[in-house]
Amino acid sequence: MTSQGKKRKKKNPVGKRKKKSSSKKKRINLPSRGFIVFWASLLLLWGGLMLLLQQMSTISKPPENQRLSEVRKPLISEKAPYKMPHTEKRRLPTAPETELTEKPEEEADAGREPPYSTDAEIPEANEEHKVSHAIADRQIQKPRGTVSIIIDDMGRDIESAKKFLALPYPLAFAVLPYEAHSKEVAEMIRKSGRTLLLHMPMEPRGYPEVNPGPGALLLSQSEEEQYRLFKKALKQVPGALGVNNHMGSRFTEDREAMRRFMRWLKEEGLFFVDSRTTAKTVACEAAREVGVPCLERNVFIDHELTRKFIVSQLAELARRASTQGYALAIGHPHEITYRVLRDNLSRYSVNGLQLVSLRKPGE
Ligand SMILES: [Zn+2]
Repeated sequence: MTSQGKKRKKKNPVGKRKKKSSSKKKRINLPSRGFIVFWASLLLLWGGLMLLLQQMSTISKPPENQRLSEVRKPLISEKAPYKMPHTEKRRLPTAPETELTEKPEEEADAGREPPYSTDAEIPEANEEHKVSHAIADRQIQKPRGTVSIIIDDMGRDIESAKKFLALPYPLAFAVLPYEAHSKEVAEMIRKSGRTLLLHMPMEPRGYPEVNPGPGALLLSQSEEEQYRLFKKALKQVPGALGVNNHMGSRFTEDREAMRRFMRWLKEEGLFFVDSRTTAKTVACEAAREVGVPCLERNVFIDHELTRKFIVSQLAELARRASTQGYALAIGHPHEITYRVLRDNLSRYSVNGLQLVSLRKPGE
């Protein structure tokens, strides 16, 4: 035998060994392939499960905007009826400060008779007002605080209600009962998420020459009659969160009548806004005694129907807010009022003044 034969002989066992080892490998590989398939399918199953879980979590947690809209919905309901976060405390677009430093030509509440409506009673300016004006004038360069605006006498006109509701501000609205569109306008306001009040007609000084309209509370009525009229009026403005007085310069001076009235508001879970049609009003005092939250109107913005006057009253409102921290205004659904609010309310953002929706005091 040659050395080649030896080599072949040597090679062959190696080849055999190779074959043997490769067949061994096959035997080892067979179960490992199954192993891989097993793990791959397990991985796929796991991936699918994770995907399913993710989808489930997106169903239970809707996107941010959806969640916000869900938060808004119940705000109209009774659970949290006084908050309107989509407009409330929103910082309004900035505008030149000069617009707010314009001085009003005269005192806001200086006993003037508004020429436009039967709401003819404006409280006299008292010493307290004058003092706060003086302080306000010193601080006007840096107004801080919040303001709310109520538009009274709603319910007479749907078109004007639509216009005011289209303003991108959290205004509050007080609807008169028994007007041509009281219920319809009340529903529009409620649906818009704005604060809705019953504008309760009450006896004015000078009654009956000065007429507060149908269903007014009069001091000559019995307690039962007043209660019946209040409940009837409330039904005309469904969804009202509070009440303010339409006229009522005589009625709101009567402590007994106001105490009774406040007890009925407490029964209904309503708050009160004193329109302050008389300086001698005891409305909020009576409310405090009974435990009903009460706010007072600080400024009437439109008892003179000129742009200049209304702008100056808005500046006055800003001054009050800067000294008191919070100030409340009442306006009416006039075209000029609408235009001035539309053109000027964005300027309240100057130095941190905010227009906020009217809420139940203390909430
Ligand atoms: Zn009124």
